[in-house]
Amino acid sequence: MSAEPSFRQSVELMFNRAAALMDLPPGLEEKIRVCNSTYVVRFGVRMRGEMRTFTGYRSVHSEHMEPVKGGIRYAPNVNQDEVEALASLMTFKCALVEAPFGGSKGGLCIDPRHYEEEELERITRRFAYELIKRDLINPSQNVPAPDMGTSEREMAIIADQYARMNTTDINARACVTGKPVNGGGIQGRTEATGRGVEYALQEFFRHPDDVAEAGLSGKLEGKTVIVQGLGNVGYHAALFLSTEDGCKVTHIIERDGVLINENGLDIAHVRDWIAHHGGVKGCPHGTYSENGAAALEEPCDILIPAALEGVIHAGNAERIKAKLIIEAANGPITASADEVLRKRGVVIIPDLYANAGGVTVSYFEWVKNLSHIRFGRMQRRQEEARHLLIVNELERLSKDKELGWTLSPDFKEQYLRGAGELELVRSGLDDTMREAYQSMRHVWRSRQDVPDLRTAGYLVAIGRVAASYQAKGL
Ligand code: NAD
Repeated sequence: MSAEPSFRQSVELMFNRAAALMDLPPGLEEKIRVCNSTYVVRFGVRMRGEMRTFTGYRSVHSEHMEPVKGGIRYAPNVNQDEVEALASLMTFKCALVEAPFGGSKGGLCIDPRHYEEEELERITRRFAYELIKRDLINPSQNVPAPDMGTSEREMAIIADQYARMNTTDINARACVTGKPVNGGGIQGRTEATGRGVEYALQEFFRHPDDVAEAGLSGKLEGKTVIVQGLGNVGYHAALFLSTEDGCKVTHIIERDGVLINENGLDIAHVRDWIAHHGGVKGCPHGTYSENGAAALEEPCDILIPAALEGVIHAGNAERIKAKLIIEAANGPITASADEVLRKRGVVIIPDLYANAGGVTVSYFEWVKNLSHIRFGRMQRRQEEARHLLIVNELERLSKDKELGWTLSPDFKEQYLRGAGELELVRSGLDDTMREAYQSMRHVWRSRQDVPDLRTAGYLVAIGRVAASYQAKGL
């Protein structure tokens, strides 16, 4: 077995595969490939009677557009290689979904489960302070968001810290996204990445040729699904697929093992169980086994790795039985596994597209913060008034002409309701996921030399980044 490439090497190999099919000037290709800068900070926080030192990172991959954007992750094994890989993925992700940002990512080496809420607040404030004073958090230069191990709570703390240090900045709230709705956030951000995974699958199944390529047929409804990681992304994806699209989630793989129910698991219940018991073991809704990794190899239609990187590698790729894999996590398939799976005809919906729902709705939140007004506030009632005019006129016509029909109360209720923020966010996200998929598949389907969606996605994204540099005369 060949040595497994690191996460950053994997991303570079995937980049190189696409770049080899392009005609970029060599200097520009190198400029787009490399990570511009990585800031490493070590800071101390006094707690539990001692001074503890923490190590944090903020990488900026590409500033072809500013601000740069990318989450902050809290995990014990965060390192420079990982943060840089994630930052470059952000560049290509933003380009693919046409969010006007460069790519960045941050991380803090910490296991948040080992700290109290109040301790985490002090650590987060201190980390934010270090980044803010260097403009590595700033509404016009660098805008973080949640990622693994962080949530709207940390984002609210970061926003507050920025506001304290920049008391006259009217756009202070736009310094970070993924905030709670009552703290300058936007409806639909928490669910956004999982919702985006759902929209990506819905779009995939609108193309019978693509479905056939994966050796599947028919619609999304009825498909069996295995999910790894029931965190923010995995939970929302699993919940929507099972409750709205008719999929059957048969396996949930978590840190402590796997929960199995061939008739389909009740996702909300399992999530609740994990919240109270710290894992899936003992959950009465399915059968437990402690070998979670082996469950990735179980037969299913769709495999959704939604936990961490590198879980499908040269060592298990041959045994993966899923026909379609959608990378809800960043980098769950190493470059060597990607090659094995591709040769075996497994279709992979790649991370740079599949989990772009988060940054898409972050973009909406940033725009909302800069415009200082909630989406839909000006139009909603006017839209309702215009719809009411039509409904009244139709009912008058039916009565005057004695046509004898009426509009059902259900239709009227739905038609008359103007779109609020959540409906507009979902509509914008759905549109983004459809458009981005179509731009990828057009390249995949129209070019003989493009073997898969990942290469196609990189081609589209690198092309857009290159065009942006070239427009600046570089
Ligand atoms: P999270 O911390 O909310 O959830 C991660 C989940 O994975 C947790 O339930 C954890 O218990 C589980 N997990 C950890 N190690 C595991 C293991 N070895 N086996 C099985 N399960 C394990 O994180 P998240 O925000 O859902 O992020 C998950 C992935 O999605 C990451 O790769 C992240 O970069 C990516 N992502 C997240 C967002 C976002 O908006 N949160 C956006 C884009 C991409």
